Amino acid sequence: MVKELSEEEEIKRNITRVMATLYQRGLVSAIGGNVSARFPGKEEFWITPSGIFKGNLRSEDLVKVDLDGNVLEGSVKPSIEWPVHATIYKLRSDVNAVIHAHNPITTGLAMGGIPPKMITIEAVVFLRKVPVINFALPGTDKLAEEVAKAVKETTVKALVLQNHGVIGLGRNLVEAESIVEIMEEVSWMTLACLIAGRKELPLISEENIKLAKKIYGF
Ligand code: 13P
Ligand code: ZN
Repeated sequence: MVKELSEEEEIKRNITRVMATLYQRGLVSAIGGNVSARFPGKEEFWITPSGIFKGNLRSEDLVKVDLDGNVLEGSVKPSIEWPVHATIYKLRSDVNAVIHAHNPITTGLAMGGIPPKMITIEAVVFLRKVPVINFALPGTDKLAEEVAKAVKETTVKALVLQNHGVIGLGRNLVEAESIVEIMEEVSWMTLACLIAGRKELPLISEENIKLAKKIYGF
């Protein structure tokens, strides 16, 4: 008989699955990036450990912390970015999963003054507005403060951290993962379009944005 996973085990398994996928896709590196998730309404969350190879994490490597960073379960150090994750959960009751990735193309284009552009239907429907946060050192309260300013606006689902990476927010892990993937997808398309010689990116028209939102039910 197949034994059902407990809800806690399932959330941990989903975090390790997402992290392995992001690693395979080159969106997190051996030591860069972190993922967390919580049960809706809970003031605690599971997060990936700090400084452990990201490509092959196991459930036992994860850490449960409260919104003040106190370790509730787990035997290793939580990600140094736990203040960013905790800040988002404190401010956004709609968010139950946070992914911090090191998307190379999205981050590189933002350093060149080009944030993710609304050039596909997925981008206009799911990313909407993508603030770019000024550089602050990883793992600092300053970074968490800068992120807090941006995510106070409840429509924000995606952020770029200057000279560092990105953050995707979701009601669940798959949604946060999609946000991170869509950012990199539109960034590759933007790069290809610019290399092909276009000076102005062809954006989705207001009329089509409205229709697309209707189709997706937003
Ligand atoms: P952690 O290994 O502590 O999660 O740090 C990785 C990172 O990306 C810091 O911004
Ligand atoms: Zn990072």
